[in-house]
Amino acid sequence: MTVDANPVDAPSGPGPRLPVMRERGQRQVFCGLAGIVWLHRKIQDAFFLVVGSRTCAHLLQSAAGVMIFAEPRFATAILHERDLAGLADCNQELDRIVAELLGRRPDIGTLFLVGSCPSEVIKLDLAKAAERLSAAYHGRVRILDYSASGLETTFTQGEDACLRALVPELPSLPDGARSLLVVGTLPDVVEDQFARLFAELGISPVHFLPPRHTSAFPPLGSGTLVLLAQPFVGDTARACQARGARILQAPYPFGVEGTLAWLRAAAQAWGIDEEVVTAVTAPAITRAERGLAHHRSELAGKRISFLPDSQLEIPLARFLQRECGMTLVEVGTPFLDRQLMAQELDLLPDSVRLSEGQDLERQLDRLRADQPDLTVCGLGLANPLEAEGLRTKWSIELVFSPVHGFDQAADLAELFARPLRRGALLRV
Ligand code: SF4
Repeated sequence: MTVDANPVDAPSGPGPRLPVMRERGQRQVFCGLAGIVWLHRKIQDAFFLVVGSRTCAHLLQSAAGVMIFAEPRFATAILHERDLAGLADCNQELDRIVAELLGRRPDIGTLFLVGSCPSEVIKLDLAKAAERLSAAYHGRVRILDYSASGLETTFTQGEDACLRALVPELPSLPDGARSLLVVGTLPDVVEDQFARLFAELGISPVHFLPPRHTSAFPPLGSGTLVLLAQPFVGDTARACQARGARILQAPYPFGVEGTLAWLRAAAQAWGIDEEVVTAVTAPAITRAERGLAHHRSELAGKRISFLPDSQLEIPLARFLQRECGMTLVEVGTPFLDRQLMAQELDLLPDSVRLSEGQDLERQLDRLRADQPDLTVCGLGLANPLEAEGLRTKWSIELVFSPVHGFDQAADLAELFARPLRRGALLRV
């Protein structure tokens, strides 16, 4: 999917140290519907009803990439020509589809109406529809809406929009109480590891957003400390702040360094001694470093470029440079939230070329001139670049795979080592 905009190239900076090249032009990235693929797995009583076109349905089906044998937890209500031409009452149709769905699926606790490009173009008001349907199904199903259209969102912004829609639904944390809220989807296995580490550190209670079941929403209030697990949930973080929560500044929990600093930020806010942090994290750090050592020998000295896609680019680049010895050529990010990325930017080397936004042709020209050993990019660009002889890594895999935390640090490095190994074999 490509979106055109006016090209602008104005240098700006997150702070005094690193210059940022800002680009505005044609970009190539998934829309926010992709987020449904991991969100529907995480929130087990949610259903995502996309109000969109056959294109949206195909995108979802191919991004999910699996045959669905059980009852799925997402679907597309397809707008037909009559709907798009304004000849049918889309609200009536939507009410009928929702009634059928909820009649068949008593297991649905929260229904998300997800906006798309076609529903936005015909100005179908899904917020009003969610309000109307919430009143009709009050006490039985919570009905919320958010937009994941390619006109408004890219790739990981879909998750941010979904979590942002949940924030007003969270119950209030009682005055005087405090809690830690980890924001951003984590695979259950990683969430369990972090929950254990927080418990051993003495941090409690700890909640996660999104929750596994919407029947167990975490509380939110002025005693909530928010720790971001993903760098792309800025709107959700600001919505939590608006309800009194405080955002803890930390790097993101990728690799040993990022994970330790992330846990330490929570421990410091809880008044826990550094010796406790060291003692609790030591076994996992030893395991992680042992696992990383193997991949470091494959990755060290290799040159890597990131094209702007998932918003994970900066934390991953930091991990690959500082813990795996890779050389960063260009690190592109679709958006740079200077506030939420401040600690990560401090850890990047002066030599990195940092870019925000995309002007596809210009970026490809730079990439061809740079000839990095590995390029991290979206699915649409990977095959053409491979055909040109460049080795690529699909950024979408980095969002789908368990990559956070100490115990996944070696797996994360392996995801980058694998295409290099394959490239070496092809050259033999
Ligand atoms: S929401 Fe828009 S960009 Fe995304 S699949 Fe549907 S039509 Fe394409």
